[in-house]
Amino acid sequence: MSQPVLSLWINGKAQASTGSRTAEIFNPATGKAIRRTSLANKQDVDLAVAAASAAFPGWRDTTPLRRARVLTRFRELMEAHSGELIHLTSEEHGKTHSDAAGSLQRGIEVIEFASGVPHLLKGEKAEDVGRGVDCHSLLQPLGVCAGITPFNFPVMVPLWMFPVAIACGNTFVLKPSEKVPSASLRMAELFREAGLPDGVFNVVPGDKEAVDGLLTHPEVRAVSFVGSTPVAKYIYETAARHGKRVQALGGAKNHAVVMPDADLDFTADALIGAAYGSAGERCMAISTVVAVGAAGDPLVEKLRDRADRIKVGPGEEKDTDMGPLITAPHRERVQKLIDSGVSEGAKLVRDGRGLKIPGKETGFYLGPSLFDKVSTTMEIYKEEIFGPVLIVLRANNIDEAIRIINNNPYGNGTAIFTRSGAHARRFEHDIEVGMVGINVPIPVPMAFFSFGGWKASLFGDLHVHGMEGVNFYTRSKVVTSRWPAVEEESSTSLSMPTLG
Ligand code: NAD
Repeated sequence: MSQPVLSLWINGKAQASTGSRTAEIFNPATGKAIRRTSLANKQDVDLAVAAASAAFPGWRDTTPLRRARVLTRFRELMEAHSGELIHLTSEEHGKTHSDAAGSLQRGIEVIEFASGVPHLLKGEKAEDVGRGVDCHSLLQPLGVCAGITPFNFPVMVPLWMFPVAIACGNTFVLKPSEKVPSASLRMAELFREAGLPDGVFNVVPGDKEAVDGLLTHPEVRAVSFVGSTPVAKYIYETAARHGKRVQALGGAKNHAVVMPDADLDFTADALIGAAYGSAGERCMAISTVVAVGAAGDPLVEKLRDRADRIKVGPGEEKDTDMGPLITAPHRERVQKLIDSGVSEGAKLVRDGRGLKIPGKETGFYLGPSLFDKVSTTMEIYKEEIFGPVLIVLRANNIDEAIRIINNNPYGNGTAIFTRSGAHARRFEHDIEVGMVGINVPIPVPMAFFSFGGWKASLFGDLHVHGMEGVNFYTRSKVVTSRWPAVEEESSTSLSMPTLG
């Protein structure tokens, strides 16, 4: 039987691609293809951008208050349809039900934040910057904005972008990951039902061809990207060369430092969730532990005991703790990295390879793996594994731990576990990473703070959502005004006005 093919969403309706390229979408829990997605071509992208461009003047001139009301209604519909969105996330990505629900909630919070846009768009005003002269600033939308998103958060990562962009008065073309496009298409339907005018939000599932169409299109003003570092760099360079504003969030290698004074049971519980949650396919996963001094041996033992108890299985089954990986080739890659760790001499404390789930033998499962005594020269340290593999390095003191992290090219997230305020403060101050947890393993900021890393985890200046998101999706205009009385005296001057 031929599989259903997902359409594109352009100008407020589902539309077939003008081309014929498609790709299979798998259910990672069964390893079976469940449907196909159209892969948008350049012509499809041009149609989507044309629809967004045509919708821009009307949406820009819709008052922020009215835009906010559409967002509020969208949030209500997202909540009402949460079961469906959680199912789509779990079905195409493999996440457990509770993890999919949590990431949906974090995404909905961005809609909630963006619903406050009348307040967020307020400019500044200063009276009497000169005699009888006032100055004020405005935040105005950019025009058509584009978003390109990864497979690992089918709902949450698109929601980091388009609600804020649209609330600010822009129109948007989203290119979701071709591995998980269904949730984005469903969100487009719900947004329309909420009252969003046609053309304001468009979705073009696709691959590099669609991405390149967006990066080079003269009417796209800004590009937001979340994905791996090599692609982030390519997006940043290409879009910037075509005159666009860019924020490109890349990959990660997040370290947790565990000090000998930490509560090791509390720490091990926290690290297990952060390392193996979502099968390690999180940009904020803790994939590396730096155990300081005497913390090392007891911590590794506690981690192994807890990893042994993780139940791996289909994400939609109630008692599953950890689901499968996204594709068979990705599982193959992670397994090869585990092989390399063994051959390079790291100590494999727990081996997740070769796991078979009865009745689901074709699913893309891999059990939790744990390495100890890893060094910074090994492949398993240098690569972003993006799978259920936690590695432990040893350090003699906090200085050495900080040095290891600051020498790593990535700078997305990090954490420290300690009972010492002095250590925590020192770590917070000296660490060269964008998001820091103190006794919190996944320091994911709330919607009203921004989210983003440093170094090779971000190309561009501004992070997503929070006020940085508002600044990314607006440009400021400064207006200086004087209203001279009819009878007021004036004179000509060619010198720099000082307004005093
Ligand atoms: P990816 O870079 O392979 O793909 C991301 C997007 O780029 C997809 O939409 C994909 O279709 C497109 N793409 C892929 N190759 C391309 C190319 N050569 N040219 C143009 N476009 C291309 O990433 P992924 O595998 O979907 O997601 C996992 C990665 O995303 C990990 O590295 C993870 O750390 C990262 N990630 C980062 C964050 C963050 O906030 N920094 C959040 C989530 C995921």
